[in-house]
Amino acid sequence: MAQASYDLIVIGEGIAGLTCANHAARAGLKVATFEANLFGGLVINITELEGYPEGRETSGAELASELMEANGSLAVTSVQEPVEGVVPGEGGFALRTGGSRYSARAIVAASGARLRKLGVPGEAEFEGRGVSQCADCDGPMFQNETVVVVGGGDAALQEALVLAKFCARVHVVHRGDRFRARGHFVERVSATPNIAVEWNTVLEAIEGGKMVEKVRLRRAGDGAVREFACAGVFVNVGLEPNAGYLPEAVRRDERGFVVTSDGLETAVPGLFAIGAVRSRYSGLLKDAAAEAERAAAAVVAKLSA
Ligand SMILES: Cc1cc2nc3c(=O)[nH]c(=O)nc-3n(C[C@H](O)[C@H](O)[C@H](O)COP(=O)(O)OP(=O)(O)OC[C@H]3O[C@@H](n4cnc5c(N)ncnc54)[C@H](O)[C@@H]3O)c2cc1C
Repeated sequence: MAQASYDLIVIGEGIAGLTCANHAARAGLKVATFEANLFGGLVINITELEGYPEGRETSGAELASELMEANGSLAVTSVQEPVEGVVPGEGGFALRTGGSRYSARAIVAASGARLRKLGVPGEAEFEGRGVSQCADCDGPMFQNETVVVVGGGDAALQEALVLAKFCARVHVVHRGDRFRARGHFVERVSATPNIAVEWNTVLEAIEGGKMVEKVRLRRAGDGAVREFACAGVFVNVGLEPNAGYLPEAVRRDERGFVVTSDGLETAVPGLFAIGAVRSRYSGLLKDAAAEAERAAAAVVAKLSA
């Protein structure tokens, strides 16, 4: 069984993990990043990033590729294996993947989060046949069609705005009576003529034949149910943390996100958490990058103490 050791192992090659590895390697640490899927994380398919990097328009794939390339030139090792366990030990950590074991003096968990499912009838059945969680990838397949977006946060409205470029009508189904999203997203949605909002409404079921044909919507309050014809359903109702591989001693909040100190260290000394896996993370890339830089500095300080 292979065994390689590093000063720092960063788990996750999303924007947070890649940025953290970059800062740590520039400070002279021997660093490896681990990735379960494709590098880039949640923004890999986003064609127009909002708010980061400042003063520059770019896509998620472009930004992540730049970071990967920069890390490569700093001799950061990129390991394409999902991390299955992290065990604290004397003076460091053992890390387990499917086939190998690794060790590190410090760990940064930057394993982010995954999009939640709605859990309604038809959602799993019609995945890839009208049900999607990526407007940039699947939007072009819905040219001149009517689609539904479920959710009310930044990401849901961002997805609705992308879809409005392709689709005849976009109906945002939101269970509340106001959006949780930032003002500029709300303003852009209100100013887009082919986006309509179904307030106080929940999507109960997705139905069709070979492809999605309609959804069943229930209005809060009077409970009235109606069918709504549409060709696509884009679900964006929040995130679930990728934290199952971390030791039990790492504290989680009530939704499973990792709790850290203000210094980004978890309840296990030497194990830090940043970005979307972390409780109280803002949800913004600029903050993921700032946390990444702070965690790298904290690791450097800890290892040189
Ligand atoms: C549709 C959408 C659009 C968005 N658009 C923007 C935007 O324009 N601007 C903005 O500021 N924010 C945006 N966000 C928010 C942004 O995507 C997140 O805040 C950011 O991606 C968090 O980065 P991260 O590196 O912490 O986590 P992630 O992006 O989730 O990356 C984590 C990585 O860790 C990997 N991983 C998970 N578990 C393991 C494991 N066990 N072993 C190894 N690897 C693992 C994952 O595969 C993933 O690649 C958007 C979010 C969504 C959903």
